[in-house]
Amino acid sequence: MQYLSLAQRLIRFQTTHDRPDETERCFKEIIHYFKNTPFRVQRFSKNRFSSIVIEHPSVRRSPDVFLVGHIDVVPGESAQFQPEIRGKRLYGRGASDMKALVAMMMYVLKNHTFSPHTPTISLMITSDEEHGGENGVGYLLNQKKYRSKIAIIPDGGDDFQLIGEAKGVIKVTLDVNGKSSHSSRPWEGRNAIQLFFSFYQKLLKRFPHPKSMNDWKTSIALTKIFGGTATNQIPKFVQAVFDIRYIPKDHPEMLLKTMAQLGKPFYASIVDAKTFPPIVSPLNNIYLQQWKRCAKKLLGKEISSVRYSGSCDAKYFSEKNIPVIITKPKGGDIHGPNEWIDLTSLKNFHTLLTEFLNTFPQT
Ligand SMILES: [Zn+2]
Repeated sequence: MQYLSLAQRLIRFQTTHDRPDETERCFKEIIHYFKNTPFRVQRFSKNRFSSIVIEHPSVRRSPDVFLVGHIDVVPGESAQFQPEIRGKRLYGRGASDMKALVAMMMYVLKNHTFSPHTPTISLMITSDEEHGGENGVGYLLNQKKYRSKIAIIPDGGDDFQLIGEAKGVIKVTLDVNGKSSHSSRPWEGRNAIQLFFSFYQKLLKRFPHPKSMNDWKTSIALTKIFGGTATNQIPKFVQAVFDIRYIPKDHPEMLLKTMAQLGKPFYASIVDAKTFPPIVSPLNNIYLQQWKRCAKKLLGKEISSVRYSGSCDAKYFSEKNIPVIITKPKGGDIHGPNEWIDLTSLKNFHTLLTEFLNTFPQT
């Protein structure tokens, strides 16, 4: 596997968000890989997050296929940044999410034949996926206007499962404005903490937590709460943050409206809401159909499509109506202490990707 040592090199960089220097060194390594080749590397930076797009000179802005990856990782023990091959697995932070895949895609791009009979492909590598992707893929699509006919993002859908739809995200900040008084005279005040919890109970009743992945409905999680200043004072203010994951058929405006209505009697109002779209991959699309055909031929079975409650950079492509193939080889313990990727599965994924590019439907 020609890209295995490259994958190991990439894992050694501690590309967490508190180490921008390591991210820069990792990007340098990637750029160096394309030195003395005809490829052009475009560098971008948005809000201190770097990204690159690697293009063949024959490609202008909109290739047929965008391969998409990120090099940022969640924090880990320093030993996790020493990649290790044990049995048929590569262990290390980012092995599965997703440096081994970035290395494989770099190899695919570098060895791709650009001819009138093959699709044009470019590679987008960002460093803010674990922070929402707004300054990476979001920026490159929204501000820099990159487009493609199809995007391939091996960052979800483990073991060749294809993600058919994924939930959208709304980050909501809500304020409760009460009235302070001395805590010995609670009747003179309006306790914001108490108001908040009354509201929260109503909210949970209206949007009960889903019980499992198969319980496909919108979830609202309370993730941050601030309130109260002194032990002898009725608190007048609470701020809470909710992480809403909504199914594609629910509309963000309606959800926010319902939330605001529920909050009114409790002096609760939404002060900020950031919405990220859901992912809907039309499985009858010709590119996804071709991917499924290639996968069936290689794996000897029909690949299944799944729903996903998480989010990934694919949402930005989906927002522009660009179909996305979200699927990856077998891996495990993502974000955990023993993150790994199965090397046979990675090799199969490489074969599948190559076969898909070789049989790319020309339209
Ligand atoms: Zn990832």
